Amino acid sequence: MSMSKVGKVITVDGPAASGKTSVSRELAHRLGWKWVSTGAFYRGLAFAAQELGISTNDKDALVKLSLSNQWKVQLDEDRTRVLFGPRDVTKEIAAEKVGELASQVSQIPEIRRELLEAQRACAQDVVGLVAEGRDCGTVVFPGAHFKVYLTANSDARAQRRAEEHGQSAETIKASQSQRDHLDSTRKVAPLQASADAFIVDTSNLSLPEVVDKIIQKFRDSGF
Ligand code: C5P
Repeated sequence: MSMSKVGKVITVDGPAASGKTSVSRELAHRLGWKWVSTGAFYRGLAFAAQELGISTNDKDALVKLSLSNQWKVQLDEDRTRVLFGPRDVTKEIAAEKVGELASQVSQIPEIRRELLEAQRACAQDVVGLVAEGRDCGTVVFPGAHFKVYLTANSDARAQRRAEEHGQSAETIKASQSQRDHLDSTRKVAPLQASADAFIVDTSNLSLPEVVDKIIQKFRDSGF
């Protein structure tokens, strides 16, 4: 039995580019807590598969790779790092193409199960953890102290990523809507707001406005 202590947890879920990363990172910063992007696990695995020439259809090879030490995730203050062998590939995994591959590998129930332990372990030996992803409030941390679900209209989301990546909003919008469709219709742990989540539409709010709203609600909830 593990003797390590589990810290407080806030989960932040939502579709691609709803603001999860900036919001959850800022939230963690303001609370003095750790932060993890659970998407980094799927992106890291997808990236490693791509580098090793493993197809996203090759379930057995992917499951094996998910357990291997050829790649790993590391928590940093302002980013969730991914190492592939000795290479820090944190920047590479941010590409929209890797997001698409990640969305494909994340459909596989065995993969989700394998990555769960490592994701949950992020809450060990910390005062608090802000965890962002798609199923953090529903599956990874169903007992979280506070759950947030971010939404934003598809134009606002595409615009955000287009600015970050210097691509056209139209191209990004098509990729995002395909990814959202895959993520919300998959059989295991689909993207959905937990019934007890605080829902915030970020389309017309600035980052500090969203974070203020969440912190206020979190405090109002007695924390
Ligand atoms: O959040 P991010 O864009 O990094 O996630 C990449 C992909 O990883 C998502 O499109 C989704 O398919 C998958 N993912 C997931 N569950 C999570 C986080 C991410 O299925 N908790």
